[in-house]
Amino acid sequence: MTDSIQTQLIQTTTQIDPTTGAIVAPVHHTSTYHQTSVSEFGKFDYSRSGNPTRELLETAIAELEHGTRGFAFSSGMAAISAALLTLSHGDHLVIAQDVYGGTFRFVTQHLPRYGITATFVDPQDLDAVVAAFTPHTKVLYLETPSNPTLSVTDISAAAELAHQHKVKVFVDNTFMTPYLQQPLLLGADLVVHSATKFLGGHSDLLAGLVVTNEAKLGEQVYNVQNSFGAVLSPADSWLLLRGIKTLGARLDVETASAEKIAKYLISHKKVTHVYYPGLATHPLSHIHLTQSKNGGAIVSFDIGGEEQVKILHRHLRLPVFSVSLGGVESILSYPRTMSHAAMSTTDREERGITDGLLRLSVGLENVDDLIADLDNALSYL
Ligand SMILES: *Cc1c(COP(=O)(O)O)cnc(C)c1O
Repeated sequence: MTDSIQTQLIQTTTQIDPTTGAIVAPVHHTSTYHQTSVSEFGKFDYSRSGNPTRELLETAIAELEHGTRGFAFSSGMAAISAALLTLSHGDHLVIAQDVYGGTFRFVTQHLPRYGITATFVDPQDLDAVVAAFTPHTKVLYLETPSNPTLSVTDISAAAELAHQHKVKVFVDNTFMTPYLQQPLLLGADLVVHSATKFLGGHSDLLAGLVVTNEAKLGEQVYNVQNSFGAVLSPADSWLLLRGIKTLGARLDVETASAEKIAKYLISHKKVTHVYYPGLATHPLSHIHLTQSKNGGAIVSFDIGGEEQVKILHRHLRLPVFSVSLGGVESILSYPRTMSHAAMSTTDREERGITDGLLRLSVGLENVDDLIADLDNALSYL
């Protein structure tokens, strides 16, 4: 019998201590492990290579994503770079044009130093994806829904095409988490997470995760993790395990609130555009809703320009105004000066990242309070 994901969130993160019966796993603050024999070592020998607290987290995320192996890193970027460093000199990568900024920087500034090249495409256009494949292409890298305009890629269709060309599919599942979307079940070969966001859920840690269901990729990621050494600490592994326990309960509330806020914003005269893949107003909601449980907890919206953004910022009382997302507190971000500041104005505008675009990560505050706050602030525009 397979348990539902709500039960799995609790079961996979709980390990009863065989000697004390303690139901919460200890934080194994140790760098090394005593060996009882000179020739045969136990399961653990050094904490960069393996740590029991980190192992519990790695097993949990592997099960939640329906993979066979999981790996925990010191940040989302450490996880993403480790996954991409399984590529070798001469390999080529096809990657979504609106990937996370840190991923863009790693792929454009660092991979070329190792002889690994990339072509950026709009992955909604599967013909363009196929056209970008070369005989050296090894990976198709996707993020769906993407940041900050929540564009959607059909994971199954993309995976089928990629596999016909012997290309592996990596998906950044940060925005959805395994509670809402499970890319490995849709044909992806590897999933990465910034667990800093929804999985951790409390804006109190940085972490990254990789999961794969492929033995060879698993060996390669383990080798990079152990060689480059950006492992997650025992304390943060423990904190992340605690965050994951409430992922479902948090997302149930946050996604219902996000949908209500998206509907409110759509009806508001001063809001020129709302991006939310859970509603039929999104052009690809039909694809998104076949591969995900709902539209998620992120709503982006356009209020026309920078002046309007300044006014809204001045009058909003509840959301914190900062980078990041996925916390229990609502977080409002301004991509123009935050996540996408390094991008040229034309590149930004081509992607819909206008001077009036805001991204709201909906938290656990009462949704009617959040709407009243938005309503008040928008009344000054
Ligand atoms: C934040 C984020 C990352 C990077 O993760 P860090 O934990 O900040 O290193 C990668 N992908 C997405 C989609 C993100 O939102």
